Amino acid sequence: MTTQSREVRLVQRPPVGGDASTDCFALAEVEVPEPGPGEVTVANRFLSVDPYMRGRMNDVKSYVPPFAVGAPLQGGAVGVVTASRDEALPEGALVSSMLGWREAFTSPARHVQLLSDPPAGVSPSGYLGALGMPGMTAWVGVTVIAPVVADETVFVSAAAGAVGSLAGQLARARGASRVVGSAGSPAKVAAVTEVFGFDAAFTHTDASTSRHLREAAPEGLDVYFDNVGGEQLRAAIGALRPFGRAALCGAISTGYTGAAGAAIDNLGLAVGNRLTLRGFIVSDHAAERQQAFAAEVGALLAEGRLVVRETTVEGLEAMPGAFLGLFSGGDQLGKVVVRVG
Ligand code: NDP
Repeated sequence: MTTQSREVRLVQRPPVGGDASTDCFALAEVEVPEPGPGEVTVANRFLSVDPYMRGRMNDVKSYVPPFAVGAPLQGGAVGVVTASRDEALPEGALVSSMLGWREAFTSPARHVQLLSDPPAGVSPSGYLGALGMPGMTAWVGVTVIAPVVADETVFVSAAAGAVGSLAGQLARARGASRVVGSAGSPAKVAAVTEVFGFDAAFTHTDASTSRHLREAAPEGLDVYFDNVGGEQLRAAIGALRPFGRAALCGAISTGYTGAAGAAIDNLGLAVGNRLTLRGFIVSDHAAERQQAFAAEVGALLAEGRLVVRETTVEGLEAMPGAFLGLFSGGDQLGKVVVRVG
């Protein structure tokens, strides 16, 4: 017996250099077949929207292939097995996959990962946030790419977001003495200090980041966790002390539209100050470091030492709007997830 489901398809690419809009997406009804041998049917519960998906909407060569026009988009998802012909994934099992942007699917079991129960008090959606890709990104950034050590001053941009809110807290857990964050609205800035426990925060839209950093970190920075690129990256390079490090995680200020971003015209400082500016993609570290990440972040969560916030959007039909909202500001806090089913 087949099951009815809905999926979100990419129906047109955004214009090169321009913004994506809801016209790029369409909802479609589909039938989900019964599983064959070695297959499972999964009802998704939580779907992830992530900034990197914008890059996949462009038809360009990148570290991950573009989404196909006419096909459902893909992305992180957490769901429950509803029918199984694979012994390792019984009915009722909590699983993750990259088959998001849809309510249900049937797939070979190898595309679906069995999840253990999350720590007490953490929703299964945490596997899309702190316990998943954004959490690992934050952790890899402050432990491997720009390792934070005791008594250092750290600046994190997009600090109210999924990666940023965790990066600042993980920097603190590693001994940072001062953690500064930036965000896009007064409400988010308040949350960065009051909810996520940063020492200081500022709105990146109301004055130059250089000025804010002079006030918030007058002695300069040891580490910058860069989620946005552009003007904030330029300002952070100017504020890094000798031997400072920057983890170049994202460049969302460019919108991932394919257009050129703001010029970084002060790279000469990287020579004189012996800076390390290192870009990274979290998936390069997944195989080697997944266990260490899960152990450390899982323990911090279980001990209540990591504050996690999610913004939950209801229903598959709201997913394109939730995704586009990542690029247009708004008051979403922490990881944005879409609840379905
Ligand atoms: P967020 O939850 O932080 O959401 C994106 C936020 O970026 C928005 O809420 C907004 O926050 C901010 N933003 C949007 N447009 C701009 C702009 N023009 N200028 C400055 N800030 C802007 O997303 P994630 O935590 O999931 O991702 C954060 C960054 O990390 C992204 O750049 C993403 O691409 C990158 N990333 C990289 C990975 C890697 O492997 N290298 C893996 C995962 C994410 P506000 O309103 O506060 O400005």
